[in-house]
Formats: sequence, structure tokens, C-alpha cells
Amino acid sequence: MDLSEPIARHKHAWPQRYPESARLHAAATQVLPGGNTRSVLFHDPFPLVMASGKGCRLRDVDGNEYRDFLGEFTAGVYGHSHPVIRQAIVDALDGGINLTGHTRLEVELARQIQARLPSLERLRFTNSGTEANLMAVAVAKVHTGRSRLLAFHGGYHGGLLGFVNGPSAVNVPHEVGLAHYNDIASVEAEFAQYASHIAAVLIEPMQGSGGCLPADPEFLHQVAELARQHGALLIFDEVMTSRLSPGGRQGQLGIRPDLTTVGKYLGGGLSFGAFGGRADIMQRFDPREPGALPHAGTFNNNVLSMAAGIAGLTKVLTPEACEALNARGDRLREALNLRFREHDVPMVFSGLGSLMNLHAAREAPRCAAELPADNGPVRDLFFFHMIESGYYLARRGFVVLSLPLEDDDIDGFLAATDVFLERYGKALGAG
Ligand code: PLP
Repeated sequence: MDLSEPIARHKHAWPQRYPESARLHAAATQVLPGGNTRSVLFHDPFPLVMASGKGCRLRDVDGNEYRDFLGEFTAGVYGHSHPVIRQAIVDALDGGINLTGHTRLEVELARQIQARLPSLERLRFTNSGTEANLMAVAVAKVHTGRSRLLAFHGGYHGGLLGFVNGPSAVNVPHEVGLAHYNDIASVEAEFAQYASHIAAVLIEPMQGSGGCLPADPEFLHQVAELARQHGALLIFDEVMTSRLSPGGRQGQLGIRPDLTTVGKYLGGGLSFGAFGGRADIMQRFDPREPGALPHAGTFNNNVLSMAAGIAGLTKVLTPEACEALNARGDRLREALNLRFREHDVPMVFSGLGSLMNLHAAREAPRCAAELPADNGPVRDLFFFHMIESGYYLARRGFVVLSLPLEDDDIDGFLAATDVFLERYGKALGAG
């Protein structure tokens, strides 16, 4: 399967197709390294520059329109400037931003999140999912008096705690052991060797950035039991997965982690993160207690994120809307995979509900070690084709549904995939 020629053609046409993005990217390199301040957004030849968004539509600076099938890497579940969220932000603005004090909003948002995820008996807000995970790991170490963390190959817990291609060079210097996802023997081996040192197991119920690889429910139950037996805390990173059901992935699985981290869409589309869990652990942050742990953050309770988050949870992402969004995602993934099977091409979308990722394989991989080594060309070609067809997704093949997408948009995505298969199916199948 040699896709190099069509990919080269797409890349060659890119600068002519997107001249204003090219110009702005070149100018950006004068102030930002590589013109970039968020690594995930970069791809060659250069990324598109977006000018505006409304609902599920995006417009780039060259005037091209896209249906947004990326939804801000899962944070954009409400789409762009949903009227209800927008109004909540305007109202918060009218009440004054940066009030330098407690407000009612933070309590209300905490209540709303707790109603969905009851394992968060107490919670605290941060500005990002990264910070939420850093705080959860820190409190787990203090609470247990242990130093080691058990995480997973392919796991991603933020810019400072990432293991997608092995531990990131900029990770915080925790002592971390990595086990294999969906391989309980590797978790047992870690516990056998380091049992009394492991403060916490940090795990995504579905590896998101690692390629939408869901954990087997039984595997997660076994991990939870091993952690319990060995006195380690179980931290569920639900920064991405909490949107998979009204009660998060933990609700679907019936697992009550000791600590959970969330973020993304729960701030209504604005900067957000939170960590929480067992009251006896989180109590360590109670400032009335002698020796309370500090947890700072100028913008932890910023009124815009709080207000947008409350509006989103109470008025837009109702339990019914959440279920419907994920059911639509299941249908889309099944329809895509059916087409790939019918064309007999090595392509498959893995994932759960409204989150999915493309792989150059016939069977969905179950862990980082099973990811196809030659994912790149298929993902590149699909990406270029879909972008040119007006469907915005991530270069790595990540596809995310948001609430404003309608049946027509889904049908359009499938039709564009049909064209892709007609055009390249033969070359793809030949491998
Ligand atoms: N944890 C998971 C599972 C994530 O997917 C992400 C972001 O993609 C993070 C943590 C980090 O969140 P943030 O980008 O808000 O720092």
C-alpha cells in the first residue's frame, strides 16, 4: 500500500489552497516557535488558521467552511458560541469579572458536577486537566505517604504527565512505573515489585490521546481491586471520558475511584479542570485544618468558566442529550467501520460513544503496543481528503462529535468517506 504519491499531491497543493493560512503561519513563526503555542495543533505543511466558528461550523482565514468534527479535542461539546452558554458568559461579565472572592457560582458548579459524578464527594477547581492530574497525584502521594505512581504506556494526563510515545521529556519528575493497558498481568507485576511504594494508579478509562483505546471493563475492575488490596489510590482520569455518559465512564462501569480528574467541556468550553474524590482525602485541602495542603490558582474559580459550566450542565448537556450524542457517535463509528469492511481496506475507528480514532488496521488495537506502525500515511491521506471535503478532524485521525451536529452533517461525513474509499480504496486494499 503506497500512499506517498496522493499524499505528496495534497501537500503540494496545500499552500495554494490556503494562502492566507500560509502567510499568517509564516508571520507567527516570528513570535512563536514554529508559529505554535499548542503542540497538538501543528502539522505539516502548516496548520490552518481559523477565523470564526458558529454551532458546528468553522471558517478559516481563506474563507473555507468546515463542519467541525473535532470539537476542541472534546472540550467543545456545545459547539461554537451556543446561545445559552454565550448568555451565561455575558451575564457573568455584567456581574464583574475577577471579583477576588468566593462566589455562589463555584459552589453551584461543584454541586452540578457532583450530581453527575457522586464519587467526587469533595472537589476543587483548576484551570486545566493537566493541573487537575498534577494535584490528584500530589495529594495521593501525601495521603498514602508513598512515592511511586503506576500509569500506562499510551496514557495521556496532560502536557506534564504524558506517556503516549513513552514518558514525555517535559514530564514532572515523579517516580512512575508504566504497565500495559488492558494487560492485568503487567499491573500485577508492578504491584508485585513495588507494592508498598505505589501511591496511586492513574488511568484513563479509555485512552484518548493514545488513540481512543477503551479499557475492557473487567480490566478496570481488576485494576481497582489490585489498587485496593495494595493500599494504592485509584485515580480515574476522566478529563475526556466523563462526557461518555451522564455519570461518566465510571457511572457506566459501576466503579467508584478514590479520586477523579475532569476538565474540558465541564467549563462550558472555557478553561477548566477539577479534581476530587473521597472526602477524607480531599479534606487535606481544608484550610481550616492545621497543616492543610495548599492549592493555589488565581483563576480556579473564575466566574466565566463557572457560569458557562453551570449553564452547559443544567440547560444544554442534559442526561438525555448526553446519551443521544453518544448513541449517534456509536452509529457513526459502526457505519464507518462497516464501509471499511465492505471495501476490504485496513482501516478501523476505535473508541466509545462520541469519541473515535482512525487506525490503519482491520481490528481495533487494544493498547499502545498494538498500534499499527504504519498509521501515518492512512491517517494523513484521510485527513487531507476530509479537510478538502469540508470536514475538520485531527491529523492523527481523532474524530469528536458535538451537540450542534445534525444528521445531515453526519451523512455528509459518511458521503465524503465514500468518496475517499472510491478514490483510494484500491491502493489501500492492495496492502
Ligand atoms: N487528561 C486527559 C485524559 C486528556 O485527554 C487531557 C487533554 O487532552 C488532559 C488530561 C489535559 O487537559 P488540559 O489540556 O486541559 O490540560
